[in-house]
Amino acid sequence: MSLFQDQPLKIYNSISKNKELFTPVTAGNVGMYVCGPTVYSNVHLGNVRTFMSFDMVFRYLQHLDYKVRYVRNITDAGHMEDDADEGEDKIAKKARVEKIEPMEVVQRYTVDFHTILTKMNNLPPSIEPTATGHIIEQIEIIKDILEKGLAYEVNGSVYFDVLKYNEDKIYGVLSGRKIEDAIHNTRVLDGQSEKKNPQDFALWKKASPQHIMRWPSPWGIGFPGWHLECTAMSTKYLGEKFDIHGGGMDLKFPHHECEIAQAEVCNGQNPVNYWMHANMLTMNGQKMSKSTGNNILPGEIFTGENTILSKPFSPTVVRFFMMQAHYRSILDFSSEALEASEKGYNKLMEAIKVLKNISVGASSSFDVAAWKQMCYDAMNDDFNTPILIAQLFEAVKQINLLKEGKATLIQEDLDLFTNTLHAFVFDVLGLVSEATEQEGNKLESVVNMLINMRKQARDNKDWAMSDQIRDELKAMGIQLKDGKGETTFIVE
Ligand code: AMP
Ligand code: ZN
Repeated sequence: MSLFQDQPLKIYNSISKNKELFTPVTAGNVGMYVCGPTVYSNVHLGNVRTFMSFDMVFRYLQHLDYKVRYVRNITDAGHMEDDADEGEDKIAKKARVEKIEPMEVVQRYTVDFHTILTKMNNLPPSIEPTATGHIIEQIEIIKDILEKGLAYEVNGSVYFDVLKYNEDKIYGVLSGRKIEDAIHNTRVLDGQSEKKNPQDFALWKKASPQHIMRWPSPWGIGFPGWHLECTAMSTKYLGEKFDIHGGGMDLKFPHHECEIAQAEVCNGQNPVNYWMHANMLTMNGQKMSKSTGNNILPGEIFTGENTILSKPFSPTVVRFFMMQAHYRSILDFSSEALEASEKGYNKLMEAIKVLKNISVGASSSFDVAAWKQMCYDAMNDDFNTPILIAQLFEAVKQINLLKEGKATLIQEDLDLFTNTLHAFVFDVLGLVSEATEQEGNKLESVVNMLINMRKQARDNKDWAMSDQIRDELKAMGIQLKDGKGETTFIVE
């Protein structure tokens, strides 16, 4: 029996604005799509919060024994500087300013994104497709929308006809915006815009001669609109109807509204059963954002090289800080909040260590099964991590009583208690024990020292010593890899 059969999960659906019982399209399987980063700059901590929220969702679904296909894209083309499809492509602009290839920009910031997410113990998605890798799929969708009469071509660009769509369907089902308000909230149609109506959005944009990211299409040389890539990649890998679509709150409109409209035209349905939106990380009460400069980079937090925090904080403490807030609540970042999180995290880790040495009692003085269910109840209630953490601190209290001999557990309960605590702390919340991290750092230093000694041996043509170091490390499960000019290692 799979755990999900015992643990009914409710998810807040942004489209119905209700918590709904989660029932996947295919029993036992979950298809989840999350809008990934636009890789034109280093990810700031606000971006990371959204990805970490969905990492927690991914982890919990897997913990419940669901087989999850998690698709998170990389936006490497098509994201314009403003939502009205005007301005420059963000990546093309960076490439122009830095005088490098757009794909160098993409590579640099994709690596940064992966490095930061890995440091913060986010699991990699099952598929990480790129917009530029799916130009053909996007062109096919545009052709389909044109054929169905819901888009029009002007001077090498193609726009989605929002007003026409709104005659039969509702543009605004997700965000609740009225079409008239959308007019107000979109840039006033200036004389130069070629759109029929200001709320129309670009499916394909003609590339000016100086635009460096360009592809051939039936409408001439150009590039795809931002909203289109997510429709192309989500439906390609998850089907026309899939379970969960996530992203930050700020993507509800226009991005996700446009995704719904595109899929409605192509496949006759809203592509998603559960729309999930993560709330914003703020600093000094303002949304963290690249453009306003009100942001901090994760690397600056880990090294302490910043003017905001009293000291450096480790990736796992920052993760704990994020998990202490519900993903749909605003979370304000500050030195004081991180210091408090660090104290809480240390208390939790200390208790987990103490638990290892607790002896078995003749009877159980508290109900471990009931506590375990309360942990599940918290997570089943729309992934309520702050309530889960409150339950984990209940466990800390019990551990201290056990240590003082004021509480006891029989073997079976002690095992259940330990396993449940570990599952929620390490598997579901994705925290790591800093001791392990420190031990890992020590191991790295020791192996690097041996690599240097082996290099000296080789320089002295002492092949016997060089081989001995390599072979003995291998016997311990540490494999050396000789590359060009440097030796690295992997722990098998
Ligand atoms: P972008 O790279 O701008 O496309 O953004 C990547 C993701 O980060 C999107 O899901 C945004 O909604 C999210 N995001 C941007 N700013 C914040 C913030 N201050 N707090 C939480 N998520 C954010
Ligand atoms: Zn998207």
